[in-house]
Amino acid sequence: MAAKDSQAAISSLCRQCTLCCTGVLFVDVQLQHSREVDFLEERGVDLAWDQKEAYLDQPCDCLGEQGCCRIYEHRPSMCAAFECSLLTSYLGGTVSLSDCQTQVQRAHAMIAEIESLLQALGQDDRSIPLFYRIEEVLAQPWDLAEPALIQKQREKLFEGSGALSAFLEEHFLEKGPSVS
Ligand code: SF4
Ligand code: SF4
Repeated sequence: MAAKDSQAAISSLCRQCTLCCTGVLFVDVQLQHSREVDFLEERGVDLAWDQKEAYLDQPCDCLGEQGCCRIYEHRPSMCAAFECSLLTSYLGGTVSLSDCQTQVQRAHAMIAEIESLLQALGQDDRSIPLFYRIEEVLAQPWDLAEPALIQKQREKLFEGSGALSAFLEEHFLEKGPSVS
């Protein structure tokens, strides 16, 4: 397969995916330059600070409709530099668009299942990263007096989050083959 144009890849793959902007792959973006801080603050975007380091929290407020970054031309340098292993494989022409889309759909299906479990277990705050929400629920003490349904949902959340984490590592964050 021939190497692909990166803009076409962003249109056809990244806008369907958005996992690197929605608090699934990452919890924040560290800003590298004061001009990035100034640009975001001038537009009213809330930043998180740790000492003198500024971070753009995820899920990102700059993600717009249909998976578009609303500040694409001025997005932080860490965002511009990031390319997941799935996108790398697609751009390199070693994996087809349809195979990449299948992996994205699988990830979204796993996330949807986890979202429904989180909602059932009372964690529906989608303004914080997905794995923080999972951790919060699983950190609650297990009570053997709880109804069997709740115990089952917690078990499924534990198993589902482990499977999602492994899937993301294998297909989005590893350097090796991204489609199997
Ligand atoms: S995780 Fe990869 S495919 Fe998905 S939006 Fe980010 S760069 Fe694109
Ligand atoms: S600034 Fe744009 S590219 Fe960066 S995380 Fe936010 S939506 Fe994604």
